[in-house]
Amino acid sequence: VLESRLLRLIADRSRNLGPLVVVGPGDDCAALRAAPDPTLPANLLVTVDQLIEGRHFTRDTALDAIARKAVVRSVSDIAAMAGTPVWSLATGALPPSMPDADADALFHAMHETARSFNCPLVGGDLASLPAGAPMLLTVTIAGTPHPTRGPVLRSTARVGDAIFVTGRIGGSFTSGRHLTFEPMHLQAFALASALGPKLHSMIDISDGLGRDAGRIGEASGVCLRIVASEIPLHADAAPRGPLACAADGEDYQLLFTALDDGSCPAQLRGGVRVTKIGRVEHRGDSAPACVIIDDAGHTHDASALGWDHA
Ligand SMILES: [Mg+2]
Repeated sequence: VLESRLLRLIADRSRNLGPLVVVGPGDDCAALRAAPDPTLPANLLVTVDQLIEGRHFTRDTALDAIARKAVVRSVSDIAAMAGTPVWSLATGALPPSMPDADADALFHAMHETARSFNCPLVGGDLASLPAGAPMLLTVTIAGTPHPTRGPVLRSTARVGDAIFVTGRIGGSFTSGRHLTFEPMHLQAFALASALGPKLHSMIDISDGLGRDAGRIGEASGVCLRIVASEIPLHADAAPRGPLACAADGEDYQLLFTALDDGSCPAQLRGGVRVTKIGRVEHRGDSAPACVIIDDAGHTHDASALGWDHA
C-alpha cells in the first residue's frame, strides 16, 4: 500500500517535466527524446531499480547471483517496453565488514552480467554502510526503443484485446528462479516486430501477475479479465493453484495485451510459450482494474493479490 500511495504522489508531481520527457514516472521505464522537439520520437528508455538484502536476497545468497539479479531486473524493465538495453550504471552500499575481495567479486559479476546483455557498466559509485545496515545495490539501465513499434506502454491497452503471458508463473522465490531467470528482452523485441501496432500494452511481472495486470488496467482505464485455469503455472508451484501463483511475483515474464486476431506467435525464442489468459473489458465505475475468474466462476479482485513493497 505504501508503494502504491507514494507512486501516485510522485506521478501527481511529475506532470510537465519538460519537452525531453515523452513518458515520465508510472511506467516500467521513462521514455526520453534527445532534443526538445515534440515532433521527435522517444529515443532513450531509462529505468532504475534497487536490490536490498533481506528483501530481494539473503545474507547467504552467492555474490555473483546477487550481482546478476541486480542487473537482470533492470533489463527486464527495458524488456517490458520492448526496448534493447545499451548501457548501465550501478551503485553499491556495502557493509563495512565486506572484504575487498568480495566487493571486487560483486562488481566483477555485475560488470560481466551487464556486458553479457550488451549494456556494459559505464559508471557508478561505491559507499560503505554503517555497521549492521543491509546491503543495497542500485542499477540504472538505458535502452533504445523498438525502431518501428517504439516504446510499448502500460497505458494503451484497448477493450477487446486478448491478454497474453510468456513462460510460466509461480514459485519464483521458493524455487530460486528469482536468481536465475532470463529476462525477456529478445522475446519482447520479437513480439514488437511481429505484432507492430497490434501490440497495445506490456509490463514485466515483478510484483505478481494479478497486481501487475491491474497496473495495465489502471493505467489504461480498462479491466483485465483473466481466467485462472488458463494461467500457465510452473510444475513445482501448480499444486498451490493459480490464484496463489498469480500473487507470487518475481516471475519477470511479460504480460501484454494485443489485438485478438490470432496473429500472436504461440512460441518465442528459447522455446518460450505465449499463452492467452483473458480479455480486456470495459471498466465500470469503482470496478477493479483486473479480475481473475476461478473454476467456480467466482471473481477475484487482483489488487488483493500480489505484494506491494512496503
Ligand atoms: Mg517492471
